Amino acid sequence: MELRRTAVVKLAVPEDRSDDLKRTMNTFRDAAQRFVDRGWDGDDDDYVITSRSHLQPLVYDEIRADTDLHSDLCVGAVNHAADALSTCVEKMKDGERTSKPVFTSNTTVYNTNAISYFDGYCSLAAYGGRVHAEYVYPEDSIQAEYMDGDEWEKKGAKLRYDHPEDTYYLHVTVVQERDDPQGEAENRTVLGVDTNVDGYLAVTSTGAFIGNTDWLNHERREYERRRAHLQQRGTRSAHLTIQSIGDRFARWSEDFLHRASKRLVREAVAHGCTTIVFEDLAGIRDRISDASKFQQWAFRELRRQTNYKARAEGITVETVNPAYTSQRCSHSACGFTHGDNRNGDAFCCQKCGKELHADYNAARNIAYKYLQNRRKSGSGGATHHLALKSGTLSGNGDYSPSTV
Ligand SMILES: [Zn+2]
Repeated sequence: MELRRTAVVKLAVPEDRSDDLKRTMNTFRDAAQRFVDRGWDGDDDDYVITSRSHLQPLVYDEIRADTDLHSDLCVGAVNHAADALSTCVEKMKDGERTSKPVFTSNTTVYNTNAISYFDGYCSLAAYGGRVHAEYVYPEDSIQAEYMDGDEWEKKGAKLRYDHPEDTYYLHVTVVQERDDPQGEAENRTVLGVDTNVDGYLAVTSTGAFIGNTDWLNHERREYERRRAHLQQRGTRSAHLTIQSIGDRFARWSEDFLHRASKRLVREAVAHGCTTIVFEDLAGIRDRISDASKFQQWAFRELRRQTNYKARAEGITVETVNPAYTSQRCSHSACGFTHGDNRNGDAFCCQKCGKELHADYNAARNIAYKYLQNRRKSGSGGATHHLALKSGTLSGNGDYSPSTV
């Protein structure tokens, strides 16, 4: 099985080359945007273009001629654009509001042709020729574990520029073949997931809002209404129609959950998570006493599909009892727990005043609870972290910001 992680490495860029990297980054962003603009305009049948091989020939030569951007970076820009367009189309299919992607971040995507890794430094394609930048990290750090030696194979990377710090960070994808992905010896990062019968189907501790449950429920009601109507007719042809609309609805809802589970696992991979934590099903039944049989099936199915896809990435899926996860304040070390903290979608801590989306707060608490349980049981001696939108929080409350 292949394990996949992201190593975030600070770079020391020679002062006289920093502007070359910046210019490359700006040109890369503009190129990716031109690919997105073209893809968004659509093909002959008016579909948004999400295929890299379809998108590349449409503007590649033009961009190369206009900008002289390194050919491998131009290919990276196509891939970056195609990924953004695919995410958009998936959201459309989920009935979510979406608009044309606009690239604003300071990011350059380096495929394995545009970057080379050496002992202690890397070489990056850029205007003015390759830039050599040294890695900056302590010897016993997680970055050293990923980057030094041959234990992890280094794939492509994203170069990000942190403006306030005036610093470049390299986000390197590293992979390793592993027999036992559940090995406890390594650093583990946990993604908490809150699931709901209305609003968003799943909300993560990293702040991803996934799947429009209202749409799922609406389609279910429409299906029930048509079925009831046909049953009243009681004819043989009505019976056959019931079967066929039943099959169609089953396929549609499975596809809906398939896309949601895919996005969940992708969120976990993007944040280097090793574990995805849901609330247990008994907890859902207690918390949402009016959840229908269908909704309970949807939760089970979401978990089953997530489990299946997560395993392929070397990520495990766990559950916790969700008691108090919607009432506890997840902000920093506050932890104040009270029923009055939550009011519908809004969470406002009555002690520290922190305001958060209620589901996002719950997702963070679900991950936190899992970490607490692990700590209490003293399992493995591994270091566990909870993945947040802007960094990770360890089981003992140490916060480390990330640039992801
Ligand atoms: Zn609080």
